[in-house]
Amino acid sequence: MKKIAVLTSGGDAPGMNAAVRAVVRTALNQGIEVFGVIRGYNGLIKDELIPMSLRSVSDIIHRGGTVLYTARSPEFCTEEGMRKAVETCHRHGIEGVVVCGGDGSFRGAQDLTNHGIPCIGIPCTIDNDIACCESTIGYDTAANTVVEMVDKLRDTSQSHDRCSVVEVMGRHAGWLALTAGMAVGATAILVPERSCDFQREIVDRMRNTSNTGKHHFIIMVAEGVGHVSELAERIEEATGVETRATVLGHVQRGGSPSARDRVLASQMGNYAVHMLMEGKSNRVVAIQANKLVDYDINEALAMKKPFNLKKFEVAKEISI
Ligand code: ADP
Repeated sequence: MKKIAVLTSGGDAPGMNAAVRAVVRTALNQGIEVFGVIRGYNGLIKDELIPMSLRSVSDIIHRGGTVLYTARSPEFCTEEGMRKAVETCHRHGIEGVVVCGGDGSFRGAQDLTNHGIPCIGIPCTIDNDIACCESTIGYDTAANTVVEMVDKLRDTSQSHDRCSVVEVMGRHAGWLALTAGMAVGATAILVPERSCDFQREIVDRMRNTSNTGKHHFIIMVAEGVGHVSELAERIEEATGVETRATVLGHVQRGGSPSARDRVLASQMGNYAVHMLMEGKSNRVVAIQANKLVDYDINEALAMKKPFNLKKFEVAKEISI
């Protein structure tokens, strides 16, 4: 293997830069040239590639976002777009591509592999919704960001005896809500994987908690559950406690990656290059029980991640 490319695609996640750095440094140390592709699959279609050196990835390990930029590329899903992307790879002699992104990006990697360009996926998403991987790059940082912000919200909620309904990212997955909710001691955690009994799990819990002398509350809601303003109104009406909704939004994706995400990204980037060198393709890197493993992308995409009900029940038991 003489030349590879690395790209970041789909939603950005803190730690993508650390992954790019690890891919570039590992490849160069193994005598492989590396191109950085600008704006995900769009960069392959438009031939926007930059040769990477050891120094082009200096001072990025601590930066959020992605220095290669990211994009969603509908054109890549068309035959014409794919043809152009494959041509770009052939023109530059690219023999493998490392794709840092989420499940959508892995579907793209699968397609590209089927068109003769071997791809390896590195799971980067704050949603932690890649089934074969216990913790995706960006998830730990995002959970810490949510905790930091909700701690601030708690100060003001406590001062006013208020209830704060907080919406965090996660359209289809409640991992961020669950982890951050547990870490801030939320009175209730609402996730798309599980229905919530409004009266029993919110109103009665708030009342019982209030009877023991605590008069401020955090209700953590994953984006996929939705309607936080309406929920806040319903809570205020049912309990009489002043209730405000806060949508944390895109701030959750930003910020300097945590030590854990930097280390994970460094390990996964290194692992991905070694896989390409061994002639492997259409694989996704994952971590399980602290060990790096890899899965066929088709298999990884078909897997379902079971919701951590045990963690959810523990959070519930100790939040009263
Ligand atoms: P994420 O990787 O964060 O899940 P997206 O779902 O937006 O992000 O996917 C990122 C990009 O991956 C898309 O814009 C598209 O270019 C590519 N992609 C997604 N699904 C497919 C697919 N089924 N076939 C080919 N490419 C895809």
